[in-house]
Amino acid sequence: MKMENPTPIQWQFSERAQQLQSSAIREILKVTARPEVISFAGGLPSPETFPVERMRAAFDSVLVKQGKVALQYGPTDGYGPLREWIANSLSGDGVKIVPEQVLMVSGSQQGLDLLAKVLVDEGSKVLVETPSYLGALQAFSVYRPEFVSVPTDENGLLPDRLDDIGKGARLLYALPNFQNPTGRTMPVERRIALVEACARLGLPLIEDDPYGALCYRGEPLPKLLGMNPNGVIYMGSFSKVLTPGIRLGYVVAPVPLIRKLEQAKQAADLHTATLTQMVVYEAIKDGFLTEHIPTIRKLYADQCDAMLAALTEFFPPSVTWTKPEGGMFIWLTLPKHIDSMKLLDEAIEQLVAFVPGAPFYANAPEHNTLRLSFVTVPPAKIREGVEKLGKLIAAKL
Ligand code: PMP
Repeated sequence: MKMENPTPIQWQFSERAQQLQSSAIREILKVTARPEVISFAGGLPSPETFPVERMRAAFDSVLVKQGKVALQYGPTDGYGPLREWIANSLSGDGVKIVPEQVLMVSGSQQGLDLLAKVLVDEGSKVLVETPSYLGALQAFSVYRPEFVSVPTDENGLLPDRLDDIGKGARLLYALPNFQNPTGRTMPVERRIALVEACARLGLPLIEDDPYGALCYRGEPLPKLLGMNPNGVIYMGSFSKVLTPGIRLGYVVAPVPLIRKLEQAKQAADLHTATLTQMVVYEAIKDGFLTEHIPTIRKLYADQCDAMLAALTEFFPPSVTWTKPEGGMFIWLTLPKHIDSMKLLDEAIEQLVAFVPGAPFYANAPEHNTLRLSFVTVPPAKIREGVEKLGKLIAAKL
């Protein structure tokens, strides 16, 4: 008995909702999803790395052996054995992380939302790198903070600036490993100085580390978490080492904060899917990641090298770029007069895409920057796409 011609609702969105925007990148990705486009725009891992068979076997095993538990509601903090696995993987070198410090979340993106929800009031100072991960800026924006951009150089953010700008801030959001969007890595001395500066200021320090395991040269650097487990909030994810479609990440923090996050998570979604948590545990519990991660590293390292070589071959000397030691991204700085947003329109006409840099700045965007991802495009196509971009830029000099 459907009503005849009901009056359409005039939606009165909340003030919070009114300032929500779609991510600039998601809009670009819609255009670049066309198969004929060579896209360096995505932040997606390469599907070639997804261990489909391993996941299928893990789903089968969990459903056959523990189906009734896997299909039931579960605790908000997450599946115990997986939390214990994570706690163990982060312990060592004199640091002991216990499962009570681990909260499972539906992708680390949810962790960012929950952290801002429990730590940030309207107008609170939130410190971010210049530039920073767009998804974090978006997640924090909902809570209407005052973003303070911490100055950075090629080694990441500058801890000696924090004494001036960090007082009274609610949190500092840092990406020490192969940062999204720049690909840069913070050296050990800088990490120590950062952790010390935050401890001095009593400033909670978020270490977002989805790319840490994807290191192509040398050994992974020590985590901030291990330097001060009482002051650092660590965020990890299975998206880049297993698959992003399972939406599984974790927050590791001192227990009083975890309890508060758990309350916020309970209100948001009760808990992260029991089935996926049990499947991931089943897939990794016997050391699978120690064989699997090196295969991802090899693929991405080769593609990173191909992109760096192509940039050297085809780009004019007035363009500079980062030389990442891991992760998925290279960051380019063009001559000041070139606006990468406009360049993108021309690039798409040539069937090549990238992400303009401006959306990654919380304040004062630098319009002559852009991000290239090297992980989803094979080396021959990388060379072809970089050559086209190089020609477009050279024509503007
Ligand atoms: N942090 C950073 C720096 C990221 O690049 C991403 C994904 N692009 C996330 C967090 C979110 O990852 P997840 O899939 O775990 O939600």
